[in-house]
Amino acid sequence: MSNDNNYNCCNRRKFLKGMGLATGGALMTSPLYSFMEAAAGESGKPLKSMGIALVGLGRYSTNQLAPALQETENCHLAGIVTGSPSKAEVWKSKYNIPEGNVYNYDNFDEIANNNDIDIVYVVLPIAFHAEFTIRAAEAKKHVICEKPMATTAEEAQRMVDACNANGVKLAIGYRLHFEPFNKRVMELGQNKIFGKVKSIKAADSSDMTGGSLDVWRLDKERAGGGPLMDLGIYCVQGAVYTMGKKPIAVKAEFGEITHPAYFRDVEQSVKWEMEFEDGVVAECETSYADPEGKKLLSAEAENGWWKLDPAYSYEGKEGETSEGKMDFPNVYEQAIQMDSQAESFSKNQESIVPGEMGVRDMKIIMAIYESARNNGERVEIQY
Ligand code: NAD
Repeated sequence: MSNDNNYNCCNRRKFLKGMGLATGGALMTSPLYSFMEAAAGESGKPLKSMGIALVGLGRYSTNQLAPALQETENCHLAGIVTGSPSKAEVWKSKYNIPEGNVYNYDNFDEIANNNDIDIVYVVLPIAFHAEFTIRAAEAKKHVICEKPMATTAEEAQRMVDACNANGVKLAIGYRLHFEPFNKRVMELGQNKIFGKVKSIKAADSSDMTGGSLDVWRLDKERAGGGPLMDLGIYCVQGAVYTMGKKPIAVKAEFGEITHPAYFRDVEQSVKWEMEFEDGVVAECETSYADPEGKKLLSAEAENGWWKLDPAYSYEGKEGETSEGKMDFPNVYEQAIQMDSQAESFSKNQESIVPGEMGVRDMKIIMAIYESARNNGERVEIQY
């Protein structure tokens, strides 16, 4: 099952409390430093809790973000933006949201006048990320935008430009930068703990076949593309944060379409290679028709290896290195992510996962599509 389609939310309060926030871009050294210390920020002063409005009350907002916002210290659920009046009623009573903090997609711009809301979190199908990010920026609200940031790199850049022009910050919902297994991979790779990385493998797949045909993820106009956009981005991210560097070129191939009823519009699967300096290659794959549901991030280095499997799910991550099993708790990563982003915004600092990182990833993804359309031709990425 896809990480994005794994909507079970358990009570991870006990894991969140006691876990550190990722602040200031530093890799976490001890997963168990005081939660309160982290929530208070570097100065030690308590931060004002920032109000977040969720735009789009689909499964990710309902099952992950809203429950996570019940656990956060630096931000809270202050408002909602929805096209569905019946959902608004449910959310208002469940989360005690005043009528004045409920918007629809048409009157959304009035949020500019609402002092309860500091941050707009865009959780819509991908094709609407740019419009709502730009409208939020024009309303002078900071923005968190879900992954992938946009349907093209140009659109992603326009989002960054709009936030800069309006003096607000933009961060991407890259939750894995806030949890210990993936942070350990960043340390192992970037600090060369087992020597230089020699090769990387990453796979993120799910099985959409058998489900509904009428879903935005299968509609290119709303999704921008298929599994590469939705899941493959985790492989792109994983390889890049293992290396701590941008790839220089890609080669890609679309897989065969074995379920044509589902994949009329978007690709069923893609395999690609990302080439880094010194000839390091990341072999990656993604699919919407893989009953195995792969969730892998692994690397071979000069003096050892590591593997996260599953690497990208909300829960149940597991990791191993050539020296043994990784021992980290699973944390409420969305809560830690939003607390960290709210802390950065309140200090007028960039998040550790800023809009520019989203633009970079869109450039990589667009190069992968270009190579796949050109039968695996090597495409150098223009940053
Ligand atoms: P979803 O289909 O469950 O919800 C989408 C929401 O958008 C619904 O409330 C729907 O009513 C609304 N919407 C407004 N206009 C729409 C339209 N024209 N077509 C379809 N829906 C429309 O999707 P989701 O799984 O919640 O995903 C939303 C966003 O969150 C996507 O960008 C996705 O990539 C991202 N996401 C991220 C993670 C993560 O782990 N970071 C996980 C899941 C989803």
